[in-house]
Amino acid sequence: MSRMADYRAPVKDALFALRHIGMLDELSKTERYAHADPETVVSVLEEYGRFMQEVFGPINAVGDQVGLKWSPDGVETPDEFKPAYAKFVEAGWQGLNADVDFGGAGFPESVFAMATEFQIAANGALSMAPGLTTGAIECLQHWGTEEQKEVYLRKLITGEWTGTMNLTEPQAGSDVGLCSTKAVPQGDGTYKITGTKIFISFGEHDMAENIVHLVLARLPEAPPGTKGISLFIVPKFMVDADGAPGTRNDVRCVSIEHKMGIHASPTCVMSYGDDGGAIGYLVGEENQGMRAMFTMMNSARIEVGIQGVAMSDAAYQKALAYAQERRQGREIGGDSKEPAFIIAHPDVRRMLLFMRSHIEAMRALAVYNAAAIDLSRALDGDEAEAWGEIAELLTPITKAWCTDVGVEVTSTAVQVFGGMGYIEESGVSQHFRDSRIAPIYEGTNGIQAMDLVGRKIGLRMGGVVNDLLDRMTATVAELDAAGDELASIARNLSDAIEVLSETTSWIMTAGLADPKEALAGATPYLRIWGIVVGGWLMARQALAARSELDAGSSDTAYLESKVVTARYYAEQHLPQAGGLVAAVQGGASVLYDVDAAQLASL
Ligand SMILES: Cc1cc2nc3c(=O)[nH]c(=O)nc-3n(C[C@H](O)[C@H](O)[C@H](O)COP(=O)(O)OP(=O)(O)OC[C@H]3O[C@@H](n4cnc5c(N)ncnc54)[C@H](O)[C@@H]3O)c2cc1C
Repeated sequence: MSRMADYRAPVKDALFALRHIGMLDELSKTERYAHADPETVVSVLEEYGRFMQEVFGPINAVGDQVGLKWSPDGVETPDEFKPAYAKFVEAGWQGLNADVDFGGAGFPESVFAMATEFQIAANGALSMAPGLTTGAIECLQHWGTEEQKEVYLRKLITGEWTGTMNLTEPQAGSDVGLCSTKAVPQGDGTYKITGTKIFISFGEHDMAENIVHLVLARLPEAPPGTKGISLFIVPKFMVDADGAPGTRNDVRCVSIEHKMGIHASPTCVMSYGDDGGAIGYLVGEENQGMRAMFTMMNSARIEVGIQGVAMSDAAYQKALAYAQERRQGREIGGDSKEPAFIIAHPDVRRMLLFMRSHIEAMRALAVYNAAAIDLSRALDGDEAEAWGEIAELLTPITKAWCTDVGVEVTSTAVQVFGGMGYIEESGVSQHFRDSRIAPIYEGTNGIQAMDLVGRKIGLRMGGVVNDLLDRMTATVAELDAAGDELASIARNLSDAIEVLSETTSWIMTAGLADPKEALAGATPYLRIWGIVVGGWLMARQALAARSELDAGSSDTAYLESKVVTARYYAEQHLPQAGGLVAAVQGGASVLYDVDAAQLASL
């Protein structure tokens, strides 16, 4: 069997989400995004989708099979990667959402989110290079000096140079405050950087002429923990007066990891300063590195959430095609003596509906989260602030829920294939393996749940959560008014909002009394958020599809399918929120009623 079902970018559904969830019309009425009118966005996403289908998609399996070659001179990517990346740079796609003053196209984050989905679905490993570059761009746009922007940002925005994010060290993973890389001021405005970073994505490769490392390091006498961390630009090649890469800086990739997935994304051990110190330039202020890094991480967290959506869709497309060509068993209640296509069987239908409805829900969440960022930038005053708060609240949910569900959806796609799913030739297992990293990096999903409970639900004394709950309740009223077809959605959404509201009150009360109690339930609590926000956005899409149908749209097959997937999600998945209440409110004591020795004694 050949590798089947080439990836098709879901442009229509992305546009539907952008219009009905991402407030594209409202955004294009603002001064900042006036150029991103819906017609332009359609042509940009169609073109971007075509590019990913034709250029990144066809080399995804090759990257998985061939992987990378390390030598002391550097890291060789698969032969097909360099020309594909060069085409990406030539087309100018890297700067789609970047600052127009430095060569970017200034499109909204929500539009960029959908483009990013296409890119990752087409080729998850290769997309890590532009992905990390996007984070570096975001960081320098906010915190770089004018000179740093001229020298580095412009080249990152064109994609000629790529960026990296250097946080992790052997002893400093989730706990970035344990970072021990040193930065010593040289008295001439530069710093000498020495230390070892591990797990650095695209820390070394052969696709770009320079690499701009953003490195967390500690100044002499800096306070301990995160308060004593500063951020530095450390270029692979020093930049000449004419802006070109010159002499090699004292930074090297000393090895790369062998991994479960994303085989063509180099995960590098980086050594800084083996020959006396790599030259670095401070970004922002001394000891304020975490603030700058968070600018980078917030955009990266949404992007990693989108990896969950993207890899789910890539796997779903393969599973759907297989379900329509594989014959096994007779159709229940059918007349034919021939074996049926497996898509006829109820359990295979269940798997397909589970996948498709979750992809739509996750896509809508990613778009809504990104659009909230756009509105916080495009509007002024209280409105801007309110959208910024919603974006902050949703970011850990987008990251963790979409990536956890991404693993479940890609695993389900393997299941649809039966035994062939476990065989590499089918191509579907690559998506499952590739998706497994997303719940881990960019802050593990456990850390996201702690962020939600510890920092986010308390925003404006719970006011941000209440505003979002009010928005959800307003949708229930709209559903109630829409008639019988959407009644099950109205009922189950209303119940699920109640669950979310009650568990939020419990977490806030328990958390005030004893943070350990609240944190013991943080992960199931985040799951409730994902289920309910996803269900809310599915409901809004069902309302929008129904109103387009009532207005006489000719796209009936697609629009009717949107209503059905929203109903399926509401009827079969929203009730699961209630099943998690016991886990949220179970408290910490049972977790500690056994000690480590007892856990080992089974
Ligand atoms: C393929 C790959 C690419 C990567 N790319 C990059 C990159 O480009 N740049 C970069 O800087 N890093 C990168 N990383 C590192 C990644 O971000 C870390 O692996 C991740 O943050 C987790 O850190 P850790 O591995 O040290 O796990 P640990 O922090 O040791 O965590 C182990 C477990 O303990 C849990 N845990 C830890 N602390 C707590 C706590 N306080 N409360 C509750 N639970 C806790 C975690 O959730 C996890 O389940 C990459 C990693 C991989 C595998």
